[in-house]
Amino acid sequence: MAQSTVKLASGYEMPLVGFGLWKVPAAQAADTVYNAIKAGYRCFDGAYDYQNEKEAGEGVRRAIKEGLVRREDIFVMTKLWNNYHRREHALAMAKAQNEAWGLGYIDLYLIHFPVALKYIETEKRRYPAWWMDDAGTVEPDNVPIRETWEALETVVDMGVAHAIGVSNFQAQSLYDIQRYARHPISALQIEHHPYLAQLDLVALAQEHNIVVTAYSSFGPQSFMELPGIFSKRAKDTEPLLETAVVKSLAGKHGKTPAQILLRWATQRGVAVIPKSNNAARLAQNLDVLSFDLTLDELESISGLDKGLRFNDPGFYLPNYPLRIFA
Ligand code: NAD
Repeated sequence: MAQSTVKLASGYEMPLVGFGLWKVPAAQAADTVYNAIKAGYRCFDGAYDYQNEKEAGEGVRRAIKEGLVRREDIFVMTKLWNNYHRREHALAMAKAQNEAWGLGYIDLYLIHFPVALKYIETEKRRYPAWWMDDAGTVEPDNVPIRETWEALETVVDMGVAHAIGVSNFQAQSLYDIQRYARHPISALQIEHHPYLAQLDLVALAQEHNIVVTAYSSFGPQSFMELPGIFSKRAKDTEPLLETAVVKSLAGKHGKTPAQILLRWATQRGVAVIPKSNNAARLAQNLDVLSFDLTLDELESISGLDKGLRFNDPGFYLPNYPLRIFA
């Protein structure tokens, strides 16, 4: 079996395969996490934005209480939402999120997006998360990334998080943070699947000892279930799981198309965090380290790349586009 963890620049180990908590309803999150631990998952990807951290933490605590795992066997990563980029808000949110999980510390804390939006009192916050009001107004705030990054460094100094990183950032901001970082950028979480391979960005991160985590590994699959404009690009696209390249490799290796897509990432040192509520899929998504694709096979999958991004606030916020990937 291939190596099942990667070492972060912070010195801590992170599992290569984890479970993603986006769209897991709060009411089911405790059971989902508990069952995932029973199925063998040790790594969970949350976010303030997913509104299920408290419940996810309950699931982990139940597993610990029953002796299935110890705290140190579990790796929890979670993220700071865009409205809390100011130093004082970032510190307060990190503490509050840590308390919600209730596990003593967060393993990896990420800045969710490289964009600061106006602060909203937690109680007044509305969903979905990008907007200030019913008219769909998006209000940027004047907070430089440096302020937020340095707040996250304080979060590490306080022992609230063991490691810090960023999500949805690209090359220029990574280079910039590295100019002043006191604590290393341990991880970069990005949309990464064969339709959006971003091979240069992955290479840059890996050359700088920044572990890349892929989200939405199945491409359009996750976005199909979203309303309106959020699913538009996904609905106009051939499902990745059904492409001839992926299907034929699945047949050849006796694996499912989902496992081929996850192995395409993990074999290149990219961590994955697939999400499923289905027990059989949960198990197969975890079993993506026990076989190898050839270099040619990896490249044939990368050949599907067409720069197609599904999680793009430059597209799905048409009145106030945030073209952060331009
Ligand atoms: P995903 O790629 O994990 O896909 C989930 C979809 O694929 C669901 O519809 C599920 O039913 C289906 N699926 C799961 N396993 C399958 C299998 N074996 N065979 C066939 N279909 C299968 O999508 P995701 O939830 O977008 O991404 C995973 C995680 O990444 C999220 O839960 C979240 O934690 C994280 N994420 C982070 C960001 C970010 O901005 N940092 C954005 C999106 C997602």
